[in-house]
Amino acid sequence: MNLDVNRAITAHTALLEDLRRLLGTEQILSDPLDLLVYECDAYTLEKKIPSLVVLPNSTFEVAEIVRCCNKHGVPFIPRGAGTNLSGAILPIENAVIISLTRMNKVLQVDIENRRALVESGCVNLWITNAVRSAGLLYAPDPSSQTACTIGGNVATNSGGPHTLKYGVTTNHVLGFEMVLPDGEVTWLGTTLNGGEETGGLDLRGAVIGCEGMFGVVTRVVVNLIPAPQSWRTLLGVFSSVEDASQAVSDIIASGIVPAALEMMDQLITQAVEAAYKFGFPLDAGALLIVELDGLEADLENQAIDVERLCLANNATEVRRARTDKQRADLWKCRKRAFGAIGRLSPNFLTQDGVVPRSKLPEIMRFIQHTSVKFNLRIPNVFHAGDGNIHPLILYNEAIPEEVVRAVQAGNEILDRCLELGGSVSGEHGIGVEKASFMEKQFSKTDIEAMMTLRRIFDPEQRCNPHKMFPNGKRCMDFAPRRQISV
Ligand SMILES: Cc1cc2nc3c(=O)[nH]c(=O)nc-3n(C[C@H](O)[C@H](O)[C@H](O)COP(=O)(O)OP(=O)(O)OC[C@H]3O[C@@H](n4cnc5c(N)ncnc54)[C@H](O)[C@@H]3O)c2cc1C
Repeated sequence: MNLDVNRAITAHTALLEDLRRLLGTEQILSDPLDLLVYECDAYTLEKKIPSLVVLPNSTFEVAEIVRCCNKHGVPFIPRGAGTNLSGAILPIENAVIISLTRMNKVLQVDIENRRALVESGCVNLWITNAVRSAGLLYAPDPSSQTACTIGGNVATNSGGPHTLKYGVTTNHVLGFEMVLPDGEVTWLGTTLNGGEETGGLDLRGAVIGCEGMFGVVTRVVVNLIPAPQSWRTLLGVFSSVEDASQAVSDIIASGIVPAALEMMDQLITQAVEAAYKFGFPLDAGALLIVELDGLEADLENQAIDVERLCLANNATEVRRARTDKQRADLWKCRKRAFGAIGRLSPNFLTQDGVVPRSKLPEIMRFIQHTSVKFNLRIPNVFHAGDGNIHPLILYNEAIPEEVVRAVQAGNEILDRCLELGGSVSGEHGIGVEKASFMEKQFSKTDIEAMMTLRRIFDPEQRCNPHKMFPNGKRCMDFAPRRQISV
């Protein structure tokens, strides 16, 4: 056993003793079987069992846990529901996981000012559930919204189907309480009463999207919007992805701003239909879900225009959701699409690239070509209105050579997104998965500036280490797949 490993074991033993004195035993998981649950997030290609998981109940406890970790020089990782898709909570360097799932309450709702104060482990959908009766909602709606937490949304600046019209997390989070990496508790942005809104630098904005590297968010003030008066939800049926993509461009070019514009290709439609029995046409090359919302007086004309534009792009039919239930069922199918993949493959790698909307047909052709080249099936379900693609690369982790092909296929798709003037992440973040792409998308100067900001928040780089920036450690290399020691 080398000196570093010895030191790490000693630090963790002493840390565990301190944490037990602080929290007792019920809030600490150290049994290997319990820890197994935390070995990865929804990016399952790389796994590592954390040394400890702690489950605080309050900001005070979070701050004390962070101080204990610092005292023993042990890194720590804030964790929400673990639905992240880029390995952003992989416990490299035997980090301690600080799981916020017990801090999950909607603490206060201010109907008059349309705001709510929630704990960071609060599940995204619970916010809307708490204010629906007052005719309000929390707009960012990731497809994972029945599970993911507002803390995770803040750290990844989450989007969702309806962010085409309403914007992403940063547009709806007004402020938050955060435990800094040295244990100090601070508030950034607006409090529930608007009392601490500052005119200085927007540090709130700088923290949103930092992937848990700037501190542990503990309480969040979110903005609430009035639920739309009315809606029209349409389903365009196309024989090809190209035609559906052109319809997307034409709808936006016409000046209509749909609340959502989502696409499903044939393979994912077949899997979703087999799982949820909605009545989707199985022979369609692509389906386009177009949702329009707003004042009733406006909507019918917009819906007629959308129908016309779909038909002009060779849609074979355009259906409409006629009842609230039909609409809810349609969205349930769309939002559960990833879950249906289990019918097609034991494993899948979700990619998250962006291209200018006009390049959608080109990137979809490229994905098709990549699928053939690597002999892997790649269904697609994505936020077409944002140009935000989600190719789902199917593979079997029991076949190491297939894992390598899946990773290479994903890399080539991301490279192509960059060549087309896009980005390697639309909403799932960088994590460990795409850290090496940062140098392709940003200049060295840009990356150094980001790292400098990170060091200002966390000089020891102990909070969620080795994420986002290039040259970070990984838990796996992929040629061939094998565990490397970290
Ligand atoms: C089926 C499925 C569908 C999805 N659809 C979407 C989608 O439509 N749009 C979208 O944007 N994403 C989507 N995602 C990705 C994922 O749900 C989001 O990134 C989500 O915001 C992660 O939240 P979480 O609570 O699971 O966070 P985790 O996965 O636990 O953590 C994610 C990151 O947030 C940090 N973090 C978590 N909590 C805190 C905290 N309290 N303080 C500081 N940092 C914290 C972690 O350190 C990590 O870096 C999807 C994922 C799945 C599995």
